[in-house]
Amino acid sequence: MVALTWSGSAAASSPNRFDNLRIQQARVASVAYKLAIANRPLCRAAAAPQAGFMPHDLAQYAPLDRPGAANAYELGSRIGVMAVAGSSPAANAGLRAGDQLEAVNGRPLATVVTPEGAPTMAFVDQARRVIDEELRHGAVTLSVISGGMRRDIHFTGALGCPSDVQLVPGADVNAWADGARVMVTDAIVARCPSDDDLALVIAHELAHNLLHHRRRLALAGVSENTLLPVSSVGLAAVRAAEVEADSYAVRMTGAAGYDLGGAASFMAGLLKTNGMAGALASTHPEARQRLALLTAAIARTSALR
Ligand SMILES: [Zn+2]
Repeated sequence: MVALTWSGSAAASSPNRFDNLRIQQARVASVAYKLAIANRPLCRAAAAPQAGFMPHDLAQYAPLDRPGAANAYELGSRIGVMAVAGSSPAANAGLRAGDQLEAVNGRPLATVVTPEGAPTMAFVDQARRVIDEELRHGAVTLSVISGGMRRDIHFTGALGCPSDVQLVPGADVNAWADGARVMVTDAIVARCPSDDDLALVIAHELAHNLLHHRRRLALAGVSENTLLPVSSVGLAAVRAAEVEADSYAVRMTGAAGYDLGGAASFMAGLLKTNGMAGALASTHPEARQRLALLTAAIARTSALR
């Protein structure tokens, strides 16, 4: 699995960039949570209790961004809460963006940041692992610092598909899946005017993970680096995976109650942008063929309703 770091710099463009990232992460967290809960029958054994919030810490940001992130997100020496999905167990129990996490069921959640240290997700990943473990055992007590006050929050996870979806700062209109995690750039989120569109993008990537496409492609000799040349066998495997992910994305998006009415025209617009047409043209099936298959999948899903 490719280690994720926030290699992009959030500070580069404008002082409001951090606020925008938080707004986008809140959208991503809510859409990912809805997809995860509505589609739990698809995950079978992989389904697990979900809390519905996104932790983050200063260590995941580029050193240049840390002062800005500390200021904008009230981040310090603890794991913080970047976003809480609406109607999730965490939201209903009162967890809010900006809260800081101390412990779950008494197990400490810790992070360490050194001013010039390279960005790392290691501490957030460790915190997620501990929280997920505790959620699997039942109700959890999250000890948080909220507006300077310490308080305990109690909730039980809601059963759903694994849905670790990370917003990554970046100008490329891109989304990808690494087998466990889904990454979406803030540029692709900005290209999704409605949550119906965003749900389709996220569901496509969640489907890649759900269907173990990374493992299947590796068996067909396809490297994780999509820019490397691919054999004809590998290319066929990639195209089959894309078509399958599109078909699942339509089904998952519909199951979560999102409107598929604009999906085909949204996807047609997305495929025309540089990011998709450039970096992904070699691996994603030809746009016209892909759109035809997507439209057919939408018709099948709509017929079932
Ligand atoms: Zn794909």
